[in-house]
Amino acid sequence: MGAEGRLAAIADEVRACARCALAKRRARAVPGEGNVLSDVLLVGEGPGAREDATGRPFVGPAGQLLDELLRSIGWVRDDVFITNVVKCRPPGNRDPEPEEVAACGGYLDRQEQALDPAIVVTLGRHSLQRYLPGARIGAVHGGMRRAAGGQHVFPMYHPAAALHQASLRETLFHDMRGLPSALLTARATIEDERMTAVAAQSAAAAVLGPRPAAGDVEQMTLF
Ligand code: URA
Ligand code: SF4
Repeated sequence: MGAEGRLAAIADEVRACARCALAKRRARAVPGEGNVLSDVLLVGEGPGAREDATGRPFVGPAGQLLDELLRSIGWVRDDVFITNVVKCRPPGNRDPEPEEVAACGGYLDRQEQALDPAIVVTLGRHSLQRYLPGARIGAVHGGMRRAAGGQHVFPMYHPAAALHQASLRETLFHDMRGLPSALLTARATIEDERMTAVAAQSAAAAVLGPRPAAGDVEQMTLF
């Protein structure tokens, strides 16, 4: 199955999910959406009121700011894939509990596997903790890091934070300007690593000796 089919299947599972307590009070689960061919995965925290009502990620005030941020570098929503650490709204927009994050984590793992993005943009602390446990947003925002799982991670403040703290708005726009070049760097590194792996494989094959010639292979078949 291609990325589109796999992501659609995950979304169906999320909409029917009751793995944690957040299922009880949600209006709609919010699996995530966007360009299934994108190299860029944005991961927020969890749905808010408007997301819960519509089933779509980042469609409230924080989402409007996110759209502006994307536009500021010439991108649109459909250039990226957007999802959250938890797919159902925590009541009153409280922080998701560790058990909820753990219960929901498998969906995000599988979304990542299906998309295979070159870069993951974390929006806010909860998303950051998933990829870079212990990292402090104030220290790492706007720069690219490698997660233990190998992902290229580009941490940003959560857009909602800038709605409460005006000074973060400037920081968000500044960090966003670094994303396109971080993406190019991530792609180049991934390509280098692929080439190195291929070279290592051919070296290993050479050590094992020459492949049998076509005629020999024929002799080795059933007769
Ligand atoms: N905040 C989030 O973290 N995610 C959303 O989808 C909306 C607001
Ligand atoms: Fe399931 Fe995740 Fe929703 Fe909890 S938050 S019910 S684990 S989809």
